[in-house]
Amino acid sequence: MEINNLTIGKFHEGLLKKQFSAFEATEAFFNRIGEKDGEIGAYLRLTKDLAFSQAKKADADIAEGKKTGILAGVPLAIKDNILIEGEPATAASKILANYRAAYDATAVKKLKDGGAVFLGKTNMDEFAMGSSTENSAFSAKGGSASGGKITRNPRDPERVPGGSSGGSAAAVAADMCVAALGSDTGGSIRQPAGFCGVVGLKPTYGSVSRHGLIAMASSLDQIGTLTKTVEDASILFKAIAGKDEMDATSVNYQSQVDYRPENVKKLKIGLPKEYFIEGTDKNVLAAINGVIENLKSLKMEFKEISLPRTKYALSCYYIIMPAEVSANLARFDGIRYSRITNHESRIMNLMDSYLKNRGEGFGEEVKRRIILGTFVLSSGYYDAYYAKAQKVRRLIKEDFDRAFEEVDAILTPVSPTTAFKIGEKTDDPLAMYLSDIFTIPVNLAGLPALSLPAKTDGLPVGFQLIGKPFREADILGIGRFFEESVQGLI
Ligand code: GLN
Repeated sequence: MEINNLTIGKFHEGLLKKQFSAFEATEAFFNRIGEKDGEIGAYLRLTKDLAFSQAKKADADIAEGKKTGILAGVPLAIKDNILIEGEPATAASKILANYRAAYDATAVKKLKDGGAVFLGKTNMDEFAMGSSTENSAFSAKGGSASGGKITRNPRDPERVPGGSSGGSAAAVAADMCVAALGSDTGGSIRQPAGFCGVVGLKPTYGSVSRHGLIAMASSLDQIGTLTKTVEDASILFKAIAGKDEMDATSVNYQSQVDYRPENVKKLKIGLPKEYFIEGTDKNVLAAINGVIENLKSLKMEFKEISLPRTKYALSCYYIIMPAEVSANLARFDGIRYSRITNHESRIMNLMDSYLKNRGEGFGEEVKRRIILGTFVLSSGYYDAYYAKAQKVRRLIKEDFDRAFEEVDAILTPVSPTTAFKIGEKTDDPLAMYLSDIFTIPVNLAGLPALSLPAKTDGLPVGFQLIGKPFREADILGIGRFFEESVQGLI
């Protein structure tokens, strides 16, 4: 039996029917990783000891007839900015090269309690800053890596997997795990999901605890899922969501997904004209139009809407995000979390050690954002930049509020292009930033959004379903309906 391409539901079935044990399944995944990951480079590190002990525990629980949940024995991959107690967590940065997590992220703890198996930690852009995973300090181009490799797109290894959760998306797409966790600050789950042809869910801000997620920009960051199907996304989301006293922004709520087509069809979908613009790749537009046609033929109702402040979103994000980055990353001094020892020159005094640790420990993109963030927060410029961007953020949120008075969900492309070639955008930060033009407004407004594969013959194209706050159920319902009726999955 082929174990590697199973969905969570099918895996659970197989396990309960004793078609395989959790231990055998874990072995099968490590074999697959052994065959494939030399080329793809999705994983930074495997956590074999942990995985096998979790698998044995799942098998023992089943043998003893204990109640086993849907995630028992399910092999998962975890992005390297999410903490697993006792394991290294580097966020793909040299400055954390020797750091080991002292505790579990709440999302990880919940998955552990659910009996899941962790195969390893996946590659990413350093501190989640980037759209291609090329900003990892542990990829060949980033230097410093001990045998580091570039993460490649399993659908075309000459291309990037997207980012920053590129390793997680590639691992799911190449059947090197059943599902994975990622994080999304401006598109980092949805864009790689789109590029690799898998399903990505960025939950509502506050629905999943950020405790144990290495912070990038705290008002925008959310942990979310990368999976093979929409159903898997709902299973995994349900497992990690909920109030956590360690994250004051987290909230409690029950999101029951109603998959019945007759109810899904009652939801009205908005098409914002600002997202169907010139400059978008024609293959992307054709695929998205195909999705709309498919759903129309299934009697879903559409309405053209307007989100007029969309054009300010990218500029607004590139003020607020770096401001938060500069504050969050101030804690990394190269002493407290992990020591940098192999300096290029001798350390003269304490200040010198800070400067050298940070100078050598952070990559170019991270430094660019720290400098930008420090500038927009500096006293003479605070009102002109940061305070203004906060006001614009509010207006962007109001655009969505108004639109959601008329529609229940919004459909857009995920990215203006399909996966680009490795190296194509590394020298042009602005071109790289534009990759997130359709995903960033969602983070600014704190909304949930789902990225799922459209039907194409060529490279994968993702379409995005944006929902009302805490209405993950709506977009998951529409997504599943699409998978079932159009893709013929399930
Ligand atoms: N690519 C965007 C950035 O570089 C988003 C990153 C993210 O969501 N973590 O900021």
